[in-house]
Amino acid sequence: MTDPVTALSDDLTDAVAHDTVEPPRDCPLCPRLAAFREEQRLAHPDWHNAPVPVFGDPDAWLAIVGLSPGLKGGNRSGRTFDGEKGGGTLYGTLLAFRLAHDHEALGPQEIGPEDDLVLDGVVTIDAVRCVPPNNQPTKEELRTCRPFLAGPLAALPELRVVIALGEDAHRSAVKALGGKLPKARYAPMAEHRFPSGVQLIDCAPLAQDGVAIEAAVLEAVVARALVLRSGEAAPVEDVAAP
Ligand code: SF4
Repeated sequence: MTDPVTALSDDLTDAVAHDTVEPPRDCPLCPRLAAFREEQRLAHPDWHNAPVPVFGDPDAWLAIVGLSPGLKGGNRSGRTFDGEKGGGTLYGTLLAFRLAHDHEALGPQEIGPEDDLVLDGVVTIDAVRCVPPNNQPTKEELRTCRPFLAGPLAALPELRVVIALGEDAHRSAVKALGGKLPKARYAPMAEHRFPSGVQLIDCAPLAQDGVAIEAAVLEAVVARALVLRSGEAAPVEDVAAP
């Protein structure tokens, strides 16, 4: 029987070998999500209602990984974290750190589909690209969509740091980066280093129990990412060593 680690390795190999960066608009791999997507297309034909693409800079050194698009968030606009509790705070934090531009005239609360936000050195991506019912993908859906997380991360030549927003995003990011979960337990502000040199920082999800993440939390995590990028931080233990 194929063990989970071997299966994961096959997924990663496939993702890189086939340059799996963006799923097709009608990706059929998760039947429950594909059916939900069709329902939303009928109910809201003017919404995106498709896998939400990676957003940001192809030369990114930092990738921010969320769980899945919100029904009226990324699923509606087609951009990660739009219209979601904490999404404006996240993009506002990137603006404050000059990791985004062309948006100075607007406040974070006005970030949305009409803006012209450009990320500098950063991409945002969800671990599951299609909106799930009740905002909760299954473990199987997380596994199935993982090549569409591993592929884009592997396609970023300058990638140095990944921030995972919440435990499920953390689990998918660890596996997508080739790590092993028992060696990389989730805890807010925990750091994990991979043999590639990429470092992962855990962060709380953008919203929990309907309450958006505090800006101070995101500021601390982004500030730490900048330190890790500079190479001035003390090394932490590899999470994928055999
Ligand atoms: S969640 Fe990912 S794998 Fe599943 S249908 Fe959407 S794009 Fe395809």
